[in-house]
Amino acid sequence: MNRGIGWIFVADECVFDTFPIVGVFFEAHRKVFAMGGSLFAGCLFSFFAVQSRGKFLCSVFFCYLCGMEALLGKNIEELRVVAQAVGLPKFAATQLAEWIYKKGATSFEQMTNISLAGRKALAEHYTLGMSEPVSVAESTDGTKKYIFVVGGGLRIESAYIPDGDRATLCISSQAGCKMGCKFCFTGRGGYHGDLTVAEILNQICSLPEREKITNVVLMGMGEPLDNPDNVMRALEVMTSAWGFGWSPTRVTLSTVGVIPNLRRFLDESQVHLAVSLHNPFSDQRKEIMPVEKAFPIRDVVALLKEYDFTHQRRVSFEYIVLKNTNDTPEHIKELCRLLDGLKCRINLIRFHAIPDSPYVSPDSEKMIRFRDTLTKKGIMTTIRASRGEDIKAACGLLSGEAGRK
Ligand code: SF4
Repeated sequence: MNRGIGWIFVADECVFDTFPIVGVFFEAHRKVFAMGGSLFAGCLFSFFAVQSRGKFLCSVFFCYLCGMEALLGKNIEELRVVAQAVGLPKFAATQLAEWIYKKGATSFEQMTNISLAGRKALAEHYTLGMSEPVSVAESTDGTKKYIFVVGGGLRIESAYIPDGDRATLCISSQAGCKMGCKFCFTGRGGYHGDLTVAEILNQICSLPEREKITNVVLMGMGEPLDNPDNVMRALEVMTSAWGFGWSPTRVTLSTVGVIPNLRRFLDESQVHLAVSLHNPFSDQRKEIMPVEKAFPIRDVVALLKEYDFTHQRRVSFEYIVLKNTNDTPEHIKELCRLLDGLKCRINLIRFHAIPDSPYVSPDSEKMIRFRDTLTKKGIMTTIRASRGEDIKAACGLLSGEAGRK
């Protein structure tokens, strides 16, 4: 993501309108700052900016100019380096990780078991990397859609889905998506950038319901395995003892099947996997999922058959049912052939209509028949309840209204 441009958008709206001359000289200033002779100029700028429009945006802008790094997303080794860099003992890394990942600290001042001098030094050189959602919409079924602004000045969305004792958070891994699946609104909007590790984790850390989350699914905007380094690090933070300390079974990553990164994910993580299947016939899948040309579903399934899913780790296949398109007896037969020998389940999802789409949602009876036939043939199949459709938080609807601020 182009951070330079991104922050110009943020600054453009909050500061440059008050100080237009600053916008003109922005790039020149940034270069001076980047060369390291800028702290004084940065302070001066921030001072004027704070006078005009509030501390938060300006301090974010100042952090950018001075290149302050976020601690959110760093692993324990990297936090050790941070601790040493600001003159703290190595064990302070464990304290930092605890404050950030377990206690949900939102400022360095809260870290009371770290010396005052240490906290001051941390605040001078780093940010925590948290930023609250800018808006929320609530569905009649209790689902909430949160919008976060990320570094490119773009809006990304997360869906919080409470359900009895469980509360699932669906998070995004990219702003937009390159994959262009025909049934998905996110895909239609194109790709705008990868989320950083901090931006992925911030959707959890800055969620007002953070303490209630029981499960996280990476099924929001973007293809997680198209942003593999940041996604794998985010999974490491979620499942490491020094991080959130969650069991990997609380997390599910959904992918269209980017094979090289899928192998890496299967080797390096134990979290559950959901594969977007949607059609077992290659020529038909190509029509709705261009990724089939590069990574055919039969190759994805062949790769999965090399791994063991008979214990804790689960693999499931997502299947958006499109009326008279992928819901015939031939599709059922081919699905059984394709998945033969793999312990898995299929989740049927009713298609959620998007504007100008040729696809139509099936009726409930057809969905139930489809489910029952697959189950009789030995594939455990469920119908996923649609949640948050009225606020466009349901599957395939995220990002419809997202875009630049
Ligand atoms: S379904 Fe997923 S992979 Fe396909 S376009 Fe939408 S966000 Fe991207």
